[in-house]
Amino acid sequence: MKATPKVEELTPYQGKNRCFGEYKCPKCQRKWMSGNSWANMGQECIQCNINVYPHKQSPLEKPDGLDVSDETKEHPQHLCEKCKALGHCCRRRRFQ
Ligand SMILES: [Zn+2]
Ligand SMILES: [Zn+2]
Repeated sequence: MKATPKVEELTPYQGKNRCFGEYKCPKCQRKWMSGNSWANMGQECIQCNINVYPHKQSPLEKPDGLDVSDETKEHPQHLCEKCKALGHCCRRRRFQ
Protein backbone atom coordinates (compact mmCIF):
# COMPACT_ATOMS: atom_id res chain seq x y z
CA MET A 1 0.00 0.00 0.00
CA LYS A 2 1.14 3.45 -0.87
CA ALA A 3 0.90 6.29 1.60
CA THR A 4 -2.43 8.03 1.28
CA PRO A 5 -2.03 11.45 -0.30
CA LYS A 6 -3.74 14.40 1.32
CA VAL A 7 -5.97 15.01 -1.64
CA GLU A 8 -7.38 11.83 -2.99
CA GLU A 9 -6.98 11.62 -6.71
CA LEU A 10 -10.10 10.03 -8.02
CA THR A 11 -9.50 10.84 -11.65
CA PRO A 12 -6.45 10.86 -13.94
CA TYR A 13 -6.86 14.56 -14.62
CA GLN A 14 -6.18 16.91 -11.71
CA GLY A 15 -6.51 20.32 -13.33
CA LYS A 16 -9.17 22.96 -12.92
CA ASN A 17 -10.69 22.92 -16.36
CA ARG A 18 -13.34 20.85 -17.96
CA CYS A 19 -11.95 17.99 -19.95
CA PHE A 20 -12.96 15.02 -21.98
CA GLY A 21 -13.60 11.87 -20.02
CA GLU A 22 -14.18 8.22 -20.81
CA TYR A 23 -16.28 6.23 -18.40
CA LYS A 24 -17.02 2.60 -17.92
CA CYS A 25 -19.52 1.32 -15.42
CA PRO A 26 -18.03 -1.48 -13.33
CA LYS A 27 -21.44 -3.04 -12.86
CA CYS A 28 -23.05 -3.18 -16.28
CA GLN A 29 -19.89 -2.49 -18.33
CA ARG A 30 -21.66 0.34 -20.09
CA LYS A 31 -19.27 2.83 -21.66
CA TRP A 32 -19.83 6.46 -22.36
CA MET A 33 -17.87 9.60 -23.04
CA SER A 34 -18.42 13.14 -21.93
CA GLY A 35 -16.97 16.49 -22.79
CA ASN A 36 -18.04 17.68 -19.36
CA SER A 37 -15.57 15.80 -17.26
CA TRP A 38 -13.86 17.31 -14.22
CA ALA A 39 -11.09 16.39 -11.82
CA ASN A 40 -12.35 14.18 -9.00
CA MET A 41 -15.90 14.28 -10.29
CA GLY A 42 -17.82 11.33 -11.59
CA GLN A 43 -20.96 10.75 -13.56
CA GLU A 44 -23.70 8.33 -12.76
CA CYS A 45 -24.39 5.29 -14.84
CA ILE A 46 -27.83 5.81 -16.30
CA GLN A 47 -28.72 2.18 -15.67
CA CYS A 48 -27.18 1.45 -12.29
CA ASN A 49 -27.35 4.92 -10.70
CA ILE A 50 -23.88 4.57 -9.30
CA ASN A 51 -21.21 7.20 -9.53
CA VAL A 52 -18.48 6.28 -11.98
CA TYR A 53 -15.15 8.06 -12.25
CA PRO A 54 -13.50 8.38 -15.64
CA HIS A 55 -10.68 5.93 -16.28
CA LYS A 56 -9.29 8.18 -18.98
CA GLN A 57 -9.33 11.93 -19.36
CA SER A 58 -7.86 14.23 -21.94
CA PRO A 59 -7.92 18.00 -22.30
CA LEU A 60 -10.48 19.60 -24.56
CA GLU A 61 -9.02 21.37 -27.52
CA LYS A 62 -10.86 24.51 -26.65
CA PRO A 63 -11.29 24.51 -22.88
CA ASP A 64 -13.07 27.85 -22.73
CA GLY A 65 -14.70 27.76 -26.08
CA LEU A 66 -17.16 25.52 -27.71
CA ASP A 67 -17.52 21.99 -26.59
CA VAL A 68 -15.73 19.88 -29.12
CA SER A 69 -17.58 16.70 -28.44
CA ASP A 70 -21.20 17.09 -27.55
CA GLU A 71 -22.22 20.70 -27.85
CA THR A 72 -25.36 19.69 -29.65
CA LYS A 73 -26.33 17.06 -27.14
CA GLU A 74 -28.09 17.73 -23.87
CA HIS A 75 -25.77 17.44 -20.94
CA PRO A 76 -27.35 15.07 -18.40
CA GLN A 77 -27.08 17.22 -15.30
CA HIS A 78 -28.79 14.69 -13.06
CA LEU A 79 -25.98 12.26 -13.78
CA CYS A 80 -23.12 14.70 -13.40
CA GLU A 81 -21.51 15.08 -10.01
CA LYS A 82 -20.06 18.44 -10.95
CA CYS A 83 -23.45 19.86 -11.90
CA LYS A 84 -24.86 18.69 -8.59
CA ALA A 85 -21.96 20.21 -6.68
CA LEU A 86 -22.37 23.53 -8.49
CA GLY A 87 -26.15 23.53 -8.36
CA HIS A 88 -26.27 24.49 -12.02
CA CYS A 89 -25.00 23.14 -15.27
CA CYS A 90 -21.23 22.70 -15.24
CA ARG A 91 -21.09 23.98 -18.79
CA ARG A 92 -22.07 27.42 -17.69
CA ARG A 93 -19.85 29.76 -15.82
CA ARG A 94 -21.59 31.58 -13.07
CA PHE A 95 -19.34 34.62 -12.96
CA GLN A 96 -18.34 36.21 -16.23
ZN1 LIG B 1 -24.01 0.59 -15.04
ZN1 LIG C 1 -22.16 18.64 -15.55
